Amino acid sequence: MIDRKPAMIVRCAGTADICRAVRFAREQKLLIAVKGGGHNIAGNAVCDGGLLIDLSHMRGVTVDPVAKVAHVEPGATLSDFDHECQAFGLATPVGINSTTGLAGLTLGGGFGWLSRKFGMTVDNLVAADVITADGNLRRASEKENSDLFWAIRGGGGNFGVVSRFEFRLHPVGPEILGGLLV
Ligand SMILES: Cc1cc2nc3c(=O)[nH]c(=O)nc-3n(C[C@H](O)[C@H](O)[C@H](O)COP(=O)(O)OP(=O)(O)OC[C@H]3O[C@@H](n4cnc5c(N)ncnc54)[C@H](O)[C@@H]3O)c2cc1C
Repeated sequence: MIDRKPAMIVRCAGTADICRAVRFAREQKLLIAVKGGGHNIAGNAVCDGGLLIDLSHMRGVTVDPVAKVAHVEPGATLSDFDHECQAFGLATPVGINSTTGLAGLTLGGGFGWLSRKFGMTVDNLVAADVITADGNLRRASEKENSDLFWAIRGGGGNFGVVSRFEFRLHPVGPEILGGLLV
């Protein structure tokens, strides 16, 4: 659907690659686009002529079932996330379609099957690691860089590149009854 051609694509394997890519683009005065799950139909994850930071290979999800938190890399899809969380009967509200990227969904607010019970996806975001335009990593939470934390909870992808999300989890499933009431 999206017909744009970046000059260069960096396929990041970790946070260090993201920091380096942001600094390189800054030095070279290149436009940056950031791709998470690549599911945004407006094509916001791709630019013409600039540097595409592709995070779709960073798909790790780590669940702490005792603390009920999950640490998620920015290329994880909703399917990757649910797969790990459901092993412990845990979940947090994400979207309806399993191939959507968790990063773009979260940065736009996020609404899904469990939202009536547990709120928006961003209501369950505890913290995020964000690489800002200077190429430095900042942690955003209620207590650290709280203005940045406010901005990334629904403000979209323009405040920095998120390299890791931390979510609060709730006991859900693994057996559930769900669906639409129309
Ligand atoms: C079929 C379909 C079903 C959907 N269902 C739902 C739903 O149920 N609930 C819901 O809330 N939304 C839903 N959406 C919308 C979806 O959440 C957004 O399109 C979202 O942007 C997709 O995220 P992504 O990471 O896959 O997208 P991408 O195309 O990779 O990125 C989307 C935007 O986020 C930015 N971005 C991505 N990753 C990062 C990052 N790590 N740091 C900074 N910026 C970043 C990109 O630059 C771009 O601007 C749906 C979309 C589709 C196409």
